[in-house]
Amino acid sequence: MIVIEQAQEALKKYFGYDQFRPHQEEVIKAVLEGKDALVLMPTGGGKSICYQIPALVKNGVAIIVSPLIALMKDQVEGLRNNGVAAAYLNSTQSGQEQQMIENSLLNGQLKMLYVSPEKLLTQHFIRLVSHVPVSLFAIDEAHCISQWGHDFRPEYTQLSFMKSQFPNIPLIALTATADKITRRDILHQLHIPNAEVFLSSFDRPNLSLTVAGGQKRIQKIIQFIEKRPYQSGIIYCLSRKSTESVASSLRKEGLKVAHYHAGMSAQQRAKVQEDFLRDRTPIICATIAFGMGIDKSNVRWVIHYNMPKNLEGYYQEIGRAGRDGLPGETLLFYSYADVIAQRKFVEESGQRDLQQAKLERMKQYAESLTCRRKILLSYFGESLEHNCGNCDVCKNPPKFFDGTVIAQKALSACVRLKEEVSTGMLIDVLRGSTRIDLRQKGYDQIKTYGAGRDLSFIDWQQYFQQMLNLGLVEIAYDQNSHVRVTEAGREVLFQGKKIEFTHLSEFEERTQKQKAA
Ligand code: ADP
Ligand code: ZN
Repeated sequence: MIVIEQAQEALKKYFGYDQFRPHQEEVIKAVLEGKDALVLMPTGGGKSICYQIPALVKNGVAIIVSPLIALMKDQVEGLRNNGVAAAYLNSTQSGQEQQMIENSLLNGQLKMLYVSPEKLLTQHFIRLVSHVPVSLFAIDEAHCISQWGHDFRPEYTQLSFMKSQFPNIPLIALTATADKITRRDILHQLHIPNAEVFLSSFDRPNLSLTVAGGQKRIQKIIQFIEKRPYQSGIIYCLSRKSTESVASSLRKEGLKVAHYHAGMSAQQRAKVQEDFLRDRTPIICATIAFGMGIDKSNVRWVIHYNMPKNLEGYYQEIGRAGRDGLPGETLLFYSYADVIAQRKFVEESGQRDLQQAKLERMKQYAESLTCRRKILLSYFGESLEHNCGNCDVCKNPPKFFDGTVIAQKALSACVRLKEEVSTGMLIDVLRGSTRIDLRQKGYDQIKTYGAGRDLSFIDWQQYFQQMLNLGLVEIAYDQNSHVRVTEAGREVLFQGKKIEFTHLSEFEERTQKQKAA
């Protein structure tokens, strides 16, 4: 029988589904052919099926690495209920329990075994695994291996040994959040340079995107909720304390609200989660600890009380709204105070420059006058042809003008300088600066030198910003913030594709209004 038919059968038999979702079938086919794969799908996209079906179709046991111990249990229980021989191994289990599972592994009684990275990396476990037929390795939350990702975990880097130790076993890495640099790094770190990469669209057109000024947040939230009675929603706050205080302010208005953060006991947290899932408490004020792996399809809105520290996190959090495909609303409060607070956190973190750059992109998103969905998608390497019509910028658009020529000058300078310089240098070249290092490098010899003298440095900065937001350029974190021209940028430069900019004045006016609101 053709393997893909077996896959189809397994989908029906074990999960009760009739059809694969986009990309699932292609991934499964690649893995069944013995290839390595990197799968990027938004949260809720259906990543698990991508390794679970090959695990069911192939001989042997699939080893699945997951950092989320709490989720492992749920996932395994779900599989067992569907008649799949699955188990998990992690440090929360007693020695006896672990022994039992190891025995069933050695006896060939398992189709899937979930393990934490710590467990996988023990000599003991590696020896066990080399004694059994393994169908595939799956690495969930694969962005954790990259320091360019937003959730770097040092223990993940040791997973690089897997491909060298088991070169013939297909390895499938999965993640919901990885920008281009992280993606490349995952392939590199896992030693799977030839893996097939499956990139699902990250667009969630049913989610509306709105940014609002950070004044009188509580009042604005109350109004928001009152217009949406009985709807389920999540309010993300930066600190544990503010989850409590926001929840208590809302309760005073007679709203049914609970709070959730990692400082609460496991029991308390489980109760809050359960009440939310069962719609007993429709609204939760939570830190980002809440939501990982919660499969609640009818969350209608997500509010960010504070600005998140990067777009990956933000995207993941808003993604919890509207998983049923019905409209979901998102509201982000933005204030400069939040930027400062986040900068302070970043200062204390290990990878300052990178986190700073990510925070800067987050801030630009909030301040921008470009269709917000365009910005989000371009951050994940996708380009959206038209403005989305479902974000606050689209609904209340600024005045635009034809920016094609300005963009072409900038893009041309970028290409002529071999995409090896930063924004600041590009602007100096465009403005014909007589900076010594610029002349020493011969940058004053290129054709576009001085072609943008008529615009101020600040104007240019603003236009580069807009080009970044439109996805015409990207900034390489890993190479001293060099500006690179994307595919979409090349269309503007070489094929004269038209693009629109907004004036700086428009931008300032709005920011003022936003501040006053
Ligand atoms: P992810 O890990 O990408 O966030 P999951 O693997 O948890 O997503 O899948 C999200 C939801 O979609 C689950 O409830 C899953 O059962 C469901 N799902 C996955 N594939 C299909 C399919 N082909 N048809 C219908 N539902 C599916
Ligand atoms: Zn839009």
